[in-house]
Amino acid sequence: MNKKNKKSFLGGTPRTFLVGLLVLIGSLFALHMLTDRSRNIKTLTYSAFLTQVEQDQVKRVHVVGQEVYGFLKDGTRFETTIANKGKDWEILRAHNVEFSVDSPNQQFNFWYLLPLLSFLITGWAIWYFIRQSRGSGGGGGNSIFTMGKSKAKLFMPSTIKETFDSVAGAAEAKEDLQEIIDFLKHPEKYSRLGAKIPRGVLLTGAPGNGKTLLARATAGEANCPFFSISGSDFIEVFVGVGAARVRDLFEQARKHAPCIIFIDEIDAVGRHRGSGLGGGHDEREQTLNQMLAEMDGFQTNNSSVIVIAATNRSDVLDHALLRPGRFDRRILVPYPDLKSREKILEVHAKAVKMDPAVDLHKIARGTPGFSGAELANLINEAAILASKTDQQSVTINDFEEARDKILLGKEIKSLSLTDEDRKVTSYHESGHALVRLMMPEDSDPLHKVTIIPRGKALGVTHAMPEREKYTRTRDEILADVMSGLGGRASEELIFKKATTGAYSDFKAATAIVRDMVCNYGMAEELGQVVYAQSQGEYMYSQKTAERIDEQVQKIMDDCYTKTMKLLTDNRDKLEQLATTLLEKETLYADEIYELLGIEPRTQHRFS
Ligand code: ADP
Ligand code: ZN
Repeated sequence: MNKKNKKSFLGGTPRTFLVGLLVLIGSLFALHMLTDRSRNIKTLTYSAFLTQVEQDQVKRVHVVGQEVYGFLKDGTRFETTIANKGKDWEILRAHNVEFSVDSPNQQFNFWYLLPLLSFLITGWAIWYFIRQSRGSGGGGGNSIFTMGKSKAKLFMPSTIKETFDSVAGAAEAKEDLQEIIDFLKHPEKYSRLGAKIPRGVLLTGAPGNGKTLLARATAGEANCPFFSISGSDFIEVFVGVGAARVRDLFEQARKHAPCIIFIDEIDAVGRHRGSGLGGGHDEREQTLNQMLAEMDGFQTNNSSVIVIAATNRSDVLDHALLRPGRFDRRILVPYPDLKSREKILEVHAKAVKMDPAVDLHKIARGTPGFSGAELANLINEAAILASKTDQQSVTINDFEEARDKILLGKEIKSLSLTDEDRKVTSYHESGHALVRLMMPEDSDPLHKVTIIPRGKALGVTHAMPEREKYTRTRDEILADVMSGLGGRASEELIFKKATTGAYSDFKAATAIVRDMVCNYGMAEELGQVVYAQSQGEYMYSQKTAERIDEQVQKIMDDCYTKTMKLLTDNRDKLEQLATTLLEKETLYADEIYELLGIEPRTQHRFS
């Protein structure tokens, strides 16, 4: 989420701008001196001027306000400031001096500035051109022209507000980074005994889970400068630019040591070499080689610069990057678990005015699979919804709506469905819901069911895991498959026909069953074997493939038959649920329990 403001601001531009400004002021000053000299104007005191007039030395004057410009008879130009015009004019006339008068506000003539401006612009253009060509030529050196070339943003410690307190959860990552912080705080402690010093840390994990946040917080904890750049910033069309930027970045970093260089999306440069199609990858390879060289250089010059890189594609990284002395510390930044989700919500809830009835624990329970960024967004969306309706605080309903919005895209109220469509949808969703309700005690309970269309889905049935589950039993998985098939089964039972609405249900159910067969060893006939997948490819013989397909088919058929039987036996409940849903559009689990007279298992709403 962080990354979006990539254009360099702090590292490059202001410095460049400053240098530009200096050049400008310098040339202005020079120009002023130059023109004044060439004009060779003599400044006379008032009394000297009067003396010259009285001695008939003055030929002609031009008066603008209090200022007088004129020529002496010997051709000398002069200027002076006068005090009392009326009297002076009489003296001038008495001595036959030609004179003309302008009102002071006409004195400033913009067009006088034109030559000056064009001079400055030309100067600026030449300077800019030199700077550019030096930059892309890749020549190093300490000249002012190469400053800020790296595009990295530099944050000084005073501007870094994040500490480990800003990062909720992520206990293991924090623990691992503690060593880095200690090293940055006391580099001498490590170098004294010749300890092997950490060089690079690779943070891996899906976007939005706080990699950037952790890196910044590490700098915040260590109270050291923080250089931030994205891998893609190194890559330019011109070969050599990326390498030059890397060189420049590390050079600047060494000047600020101890400090942290953060490279987001390192995979943009760090993809393993020679993986591209054909040529055209010289630039990236040169950049990568330069980065490796710089990191190896740490060993010899013993600088306390730590490189933290982030990626969600560690699988594509060049192995050279992962060798000792380079990114040899690897830290996984995972999706937050239940507890972490609650803590992340707490961190971000501080910023908004919350209805006291809102229970963040329950919201955390209802948001499995949300990233840290999505949780932050959830709070923000809820706050926006509450603001729109001028509420005093953010309520649980706002969270419900915000969650659905994030999950499934914006509500499309305008989507016009026929009554028949709505009826079919209502039975479809009721089928999911009812099967879900009737599943064994420890499978995921029903949360709510709705036929308000959102995104592409005409309706949604939510189940809510009661706890974070790391292992699931065969029955729990089958319960998911059966409630997934409940939609289609219900349609078939009531309307005796199939619709396309069940496509994604079938897709999801099939994927679960395939996992059961291939990865969990849950198929009776294939036994406890993992038929591993490597990058989307199943690694087994054609014969095994056929047996797997057979097993998947068998489990699916079996589930469908059971689901159909369940719904047929409870047809009255299905009808009752579908009719009510059609009317109310959304039903929560407790409302359904009441409606159908079923004993509720757990609380299923946030509130
Ligand atoms: P990544 O770099 O992994 O893509 P970011 O660090 O940019 O993720 O996270 C984006 C935003 O999500 C953060 O600015 C923060 O608001 C929120 N966030 C993510 N993880 C956490 C966390 N553990 N604690 C608090 N906020 C988090
Ligand atoms: Zn469905």
